[in-house]
Amino acid sequence: RTKQLGRHGYTVFNHELRADQADQLAMEAELRRALDETDQLIPHYQPFIDAHTGQLAGFEALVRWQHPMRGLISPSIFLPIAEESGLIMRLDRYMIQAACAQLRQWLDAERVGEDIALHINLSSANLHDADLVDWLRQLIAQYALRPGMLHLEITETALIDVPDIAATVMRELHELGLRLALDDFGTGYSALSYLHRYRFDVLKIDQSFVFDVDRKEESAAIVRAILALADALSLEVVAEGVETLSQLQRLRAMGCDKVQGYYFSHPATARDIDWAQLAAIPWEFASA
Ligand code: C2E
Ligand code: MG
Ligand code: MG
Ligand code: MG
Repeated sequence: RTKQLGRHGYTVFNHELRADQADQLAMEAELRRALDETDQLIPHYQPFIDAHTGQLAGFEALVRWQHPMRGLISPSIFLPIAEESGLIMRLDRYMIQAACAQLRQWLDAERVGEDIALHINLSSANLHDADLVDWLRQLIAQYALRPGMLHLEITETALIDVPDIAATVMRELHELGLRLALDDFGTGYSALSYLHRYRFDVLKIDQSFVFDVDRKEESAAIVRAILALADALSLEVVAEGVETLSQLQRLRAMGCDKVQGYYFSHPATARDIDWAQLAAIPWEFASA
């Protein structure tokens, strides 16, 4: 399949292809072991901020793999392997469970309040899984969480080949009280038809539009159009990939609800989160 196309889009030599496949198989076996033994998969958390007040609005959980030999591996490397091998179902459940346990700990320590949102990425494979909803119901009860705190982020491209059962699972997730976010909005093929077909609560504007929102009129126009659409459909909006003050100012002026990106914080492990820095952002906002 896509493996036959090399990194630059042309066919690679056979021996290279074999090496590639061997490497993939090795990584699949290692990922399986990582899931069995845990502690190699390390949830990182990236905050997002209320664009009006500068207050902490929530965290997105992002997986990292601390590989014993290869070091810290980013999801773009191993998620495709996890998806092809079916391991993604276990990986996503592992991340959901870890994030819920973390949220319960933050609530108990009064780091965050009940109004905080916890976003978790969900691969579309899980939308075929009729057991997901019951599993989540038990998890939410176990950690005594308000279901509305949990947001599942689904990417638009991930929705391309899901069958009708996805619509049922998504409806049941809503009935359970969870919220659904459409991730990387604007980069897929038929974003608008997904909005029409499925019910979402949040749109995450893809970072490719945020990147030059302050410098390129076309990007600004697209962001403005997304904000108008979200407003008309009563959806909340989070802008991803905010790296500069200038981008932030532009997004605030446009009326974007929430902002997320390296400008505020890189994803970090729970113990590396700089709570004092997060608490200081409202002051920064007041003077910006
Ligand atoms: P995403 O959900 O769209 O997450 C945003 C990505 O942008 C993350 O990359 C994040 O680290 C990065 N990012 C955040 N702020 C900035 C910024 O200011 N500038 C730039 N250039 N990048 C920024 P990451 O962590 O490598 O994750 C990549 C993708 O992998 C995620 O995209 C998500 O689709 C997927 N993913 C991550 N964790 C999980 C997981 O537990 N389960 C599933 N199914 N997918 C996951
Ligand atoms: Mg996401
Ligand atoms: Mg995204
Ligand atoms: Mg993405």
